Amino acid sequence: MKYLTPGPVQLPKMVIDAIARQPQFHRTDEFRATMRMVLEKLSKVYPYGQPIVMPGTGTFAVDVMVYNYIEPGDNVLVISMGEFGERLSDSIESRGAKVIKLEYEIGGAPSLDVVEDTAKKYDNISAIAVVHNETSAGVTYRYIEKLQDVAYSVGAILLVDSVSALPAEPIKSRVDVIATASQKAFLAPPGAAILYVSREPRAKTRIPPSMDLTRYLKGIHIGDTPYTPPINVVYGLDASLDYILGMGIDQYHAVHRERAYILYTGLKLKPVPRDPYLWSYTVTAFYTEKGAGYIVRELKKHGYVIASGMGRYKDSIIRIGVMGDIAREDLEKVVEVVNSLVDQ
Ligand code: PLP
Repeated sequence: MKYLTPGPVQLPKMVIDAIARQPQFHRTDEFRATMRMVLEKLSKVYPYGQPIVMPGTGTFAVDVMVYNYIEPGDNVLVISMGEFGERLSDSIESRGAKVIKLEYEIGGAPSLDVVEDTAKKYDNISAIAVVHNETSAGVTYRYIEKLQDVAYSVGAILLVDSVSALPAEPIKSRVDVIATASQKAFLAPPGAAILYVSREPRAKTRIPPSMDLTRYLKGIHIGDTPYTPPINVVYGLDASLDYILGMGIDQYHAVHRERAYILYTGLKLKPVPRDPYLWSYTVTAFYTEKGAGYIVRELKKHGYVIASGMGRYKDSIIRIGVMGDIAREDLEKVVEVVNSLVDQ
């Protein structure tokens, strides 16, 4: 079976080989050296913040970001373009903050002007939060760098969920805090939550020790972690970052764009994002009148796993991921099969 899903993704062979080993004891110089190496490589794919690797899911990474940078009672402007925007908003509310939501119908996204005007309407916004790539809609918000400027201009910090974007989708300048995870465009197995922070955690209210970034930052320069790290996922990241950096980060971005365009130009289906500028190059999403369940089942017969939509779009949208170790021929085959189903 070949997996063209929103993640976890198909791993390169060198990553599978790297994880198949005994985990070292993490309180040793050997493992600390590996961790330092992985942090160094993580800094090469996004050089504007301190990377932190901890055990956990993408959801956990987002919660950690929220709990370390938002306080109960804060006013937070959340841009929600779908299912994961809603989850981000839930996380922020669970922290006891007040959410001011800019909510968009599926396929849509706000202009920077709208965000700026809304942020300026309230004089006490402490953070703006956004999902970089809205995986449920195949929408990439490509104004992250400018959104950081908007946040500065209103005295807020910017929190970004980039779980299904980095490092296949670039962020080209400094962002306050980014939450991501190992199992999508980082090409490693699930199990590591990854954060990039470029400012000190600001929460004064106590948070659970497992989420406390100050504890993680304490020994990071020597590759130490406060608790047991996801050791074999770290080995996977060591290899997958070699794979990505070996290709070159610009080429890595280009490869995803090219793969996505095979689908955008080949499929006889309408992309969910309304504006081509929002087309995701990591997880594509298309409307279908044939029933997503039917298309997913038929593709499986040909050896391909893709995803249906989420929530109320479960049967009206298909999602095809282009991250991972996949070949051009696989995408072309998927186009051929899906188009033949559409034509029936
Ligand atoms: N945020 C985004 C944008 C995602 O795409 C996902 C997973 O698909 C998550 C968060 C949650 O990640 P996880 O399933 O690892 O908790």
